Amino acid sequence: MAIKDGGDVKAHFVFIPMMFQGHLIPAVDTALLLATHGALASVVVTPSHTGRVRPAVDFAHKSGLPVRLVELPLELAAEGLPDGADDVDKVPSDRWVNYFRALARLRAPLERHLRAHAPFPTCVVADICHPWARELAASLGVPRLCFLSTCAFVLLCQHNVERFDAYGGVADDHELVVVPGLEKKVEVSRAQAPGFFRGMPGFEKFADEVEQVLAEADGIIIDSFLEMEPEFVAGYAEARRMKVWTVGPVSLFHQRATTLASRGNTAAIDADECLRWLDGKEPSSVVYVSFGSIAHAEPKQVVELGLGLEASGHPFIWVVKNADQHGEDVTEFLRELEARVAGRGLLIRGWAPQVLILSHAAVGGFVTHSGWNSTVEAITTGLPVVTWPHFGDQFLNAKFAVEVLGVGVDVGVMEPVMYRLDQKGIVVGREVVEEAVRSIMDGGDEWEERRRRVRALAAKARAAVEEGGSSHGNLLDLIKNFEFKVAAGCGAIA
Ligand code: UDP
Repeated sequence: MAIKDGGDVKAHFVFIPMMFQGHLIPAVDTALLLATHGALASVVVTPSHTGRVRPAVDFAHKSGLPVRLVELPLELAAEGLPDGADDVDKVPSDRWVNYFRALARLRAPLERHLRAHAPFPTCVVADICHPWARELAASLGVPRLCFLSTCAFVLLCQHNVERFDAYGGVADDHELVVVPGLEKKVEVSRAQAPGFFRGMPGFEKFADEVEQVLAEADGIIIDSFLEMEPEFVAGYAEARRMKVWTVGPVSLFHQRATTLASRGNTAAIDADECLRWLDGKEPSSVVYVSFGSIAHAEPKQVVELGLGLEASGHPFIWVVKNADQHGEDVTEFLRELEARVAGRGLLIRGWAPQVLILSHAAVGGFVTHSGWNSTVEAITTGLPVVTWPHFGDQFLNAKFAVEVLGVGVDVGVMEPVMYRLDQKGIVVGREVVEEAVRSIMDGGDEWEERRRRVRALAAKARAAVEEGGSSHGNLLDLIKNFEFKVAAGCGAIA
């Protein structure tokens, strides 16, 4: 693919993201940020995900940024996967091991592609879900960094739990243990924070590989900013003896409505319509409710959440994923609810332009599943959160927001609800939803304190990405560390 600007580039980073939205979106933003500072960024995608990154990349091209999309198909049949399973939303729930094996087959075609298209890479930046990137980088003879959309607090907690065997001898997956090696007392259970891929049937060897991939990386890049968690960034860097580049919040790459609304899937609501609706509301009066791109709510839980939002009395935007898959009763319930709260509640059935919404002055709080992207997006836009973790790193993210940063309240879920697997019914009742929403929206001393803290963090987040800021400096440092070593000019794009 030809790059329009044709100018010299200082380095060539090859990003290999995992195709989940929560991994892909921040990886692309980070690639674009590096391109902003003069590096060529190549981003590897599989075909059904190209559409999700195309608008951001097209925008980058129009702005003259050196970014390439490298689209490589998966060999589905060879790994026993059905047609269409290239799309992470369509992988059969019993074939995830096959899917990861199919991903590993990308190594050879990707290496051929990179060798055939100058300039030669200077650094591979891979998601930890791609352990095969280690062999790729070794074969190319270039350094390899891990990219994670997470914070140093989570990394350090998981690392310390594993390093000091904190769950050793603890038979009950739900028993809380203190995370070793932290000044602050943080308690987690194995069920809440098992570690990357730990405890997943069929992934035992893969989980060990992921740990090795992290341990042996030449450094890591995370979507966080130093001023939010200096002690954890330093703690993790020291524990792993590795460089940690905090480059976030990467969503701040998008400063204009057009690109803010084009992260990930095509939104199920027109951006202007959404903004018009928000324009009609008082400042800080609307609560935004979304559980990210993966978590699936049970039908009864959907109803309970809706009733809690209605009872809170606050205007709300509620992103209802897979609204058509909850059955007739829920469809009817949602229709009736919409009629009752007309003008006060806006339901988005499908993908929402999340950061566009969070950035609007009418929004005052965020009920979130505590995915890291959502958490850092809330902090960046100065919004207190209600944390409602479902699985993965979300319990630790929630603890970080509530117990460490003091910018949220938790709904009190103790056990994970796994991706598409559980039938747990109602986990959080309508009264709890109502009370939690009121606590981040209704005012009062604690409300005031939380709001003050999160707004102070938002200001630091903005400063971090500006010239002279820590994240800005880390992007420049990355480029300096991985720039072309040979004579000037050889980095020119043909
Ligand atoms: N997102 C969005 N619209 C939606 C749902 C999600 O724009 O309707 C974006 C959100 O802004 C975030 C990412 O998708 O950048 C979700 O990542 P997160 O880590 O919060 O959760 P995950 O989807 O990985 O569980």
